[in-house]
Amino acid sequence: MALLAVLLSPLDVSATTRAASSAVTTAAAVAAETKKTRTWVKHGVIAGDTLVKVARRYGVTRSELIRWNRLNPERPVIVIGRSLRVYAKVVPLPRERRVHAVVKGDSWSGIASKYGVSQSLLRRWNPKYKGKRSLYVGNLVIVWLDGMATIKKEVTDEPLPLVAVQQGARSVGAPARGKIYGSAPIPENKSLYMVLRPRLSFGSTHAIEQLQLGIARFRRDYAYDGRVVIASMSREGGGRLKPHLSHQSGRDVDVRLPLVAGLKGTLPQSYEEVDWSATWGLVKSLIDTKEVVYIFLTHSAQRRLYRAAKRAGMTEVELKPLIQYPESIGSGRAVVRHSKGHDKHFHVRFKCGSADDACRDKR
Ligand SMILES: [Zn+2]
Repeated sequence: MALLAVLLSPLDVSATTRAASSAVTTAAAVAAETKKTRTWVKHGVIAGDTLVKVARRYGVTRSELIRWNRLNPERPVIVIGRSLRVYAKVVPLPRERRVHAVVKGDSWSGIASKYGVSQSLLRRWNPKYKGKRSLYVGNLVIVWLDGMATIKKEVTDEPLPLVAVQQGARSVGAPARGKIYGSAPIPENKSLYMVLRPRLSFGSTHAIEQLQLGIARFRRDYAYDGRVVIASMSREGGGRLKPHLSHQSGRDVDVRLPLVAGLKGTLPQSYEEVDWSATWGLVKSLIDTKEVVYIFLTHSAQRRLYRAAKRAGMTEVELKPLIQYPESIGSGRAVVRHSKGHDKHFHVRFKCGSADDACRDKR
């Protein structure tokens, strides 16, 4: 993306920007009450930022920003894509970068109002589509949302839409050298997920019950309307399932990374097409069953997952046992860890169930 210099003067602040700033101020003031110590943070500059807006966001002053960043006080310039050092009084939730896939009937103004942002800002965030009067289905439009912790829904007491899982299926041996006694198929449950390959979707009763439970809680707790796609688990009876090394004992299952709303198909073509907030919700809901051993995900994808988790309000300390990132590829004992080729799906390994008496973790 080309670096655009933004010249800052009081005249630069448009009416819409003023409205947005005052909303931010209120939020900042509330947050300031709860947190009074200062911390150094970096603020990544995006189109539409002004020194005044940034200052308000962190409860500091424009002149402080000029001083900390050694800007020219006469003509302070901030540059999109660079960051500002801020000794923040208030640390708001990070700004969230969302990707909106254009669907039939979408327009600049429609998308702007859907996300509650101004149309001119929306256009500036998307220089790729600059000068285009209309958008086309499949265009990916970037939207920046201010400190919105994503999409946690209100808690409801409605029963989870679980369907019965065939009983008595036991995991035998190790994931990379094992089989299944009395294999259970992943039952059809259209309100929760889609099973892509029924012939490769057998497992232990325990693993399938936990998989269904995790996805059901994800559906209950997170506002994600897209599909959850289960790619492969094990063959009926288990054993070798090419090209996988594991997937033999009915405890390993591949789940495709959820797509941003509105995209066709089930397989993300790039990280842009992945809804990372939904991915985080799904991963977290699965881990919360307490029956997950590992989740394999490529390290570069973990970075996106980690950011989504932070946006959802998780702290570094809470994330340490859950996601390997920001540690390096080989390190750590976190549940989510690197394994090559897991960049369009993640791979979940469930624990042995109490009935799986011949189930082992090593060969
Ligand atoms: Zn796998």
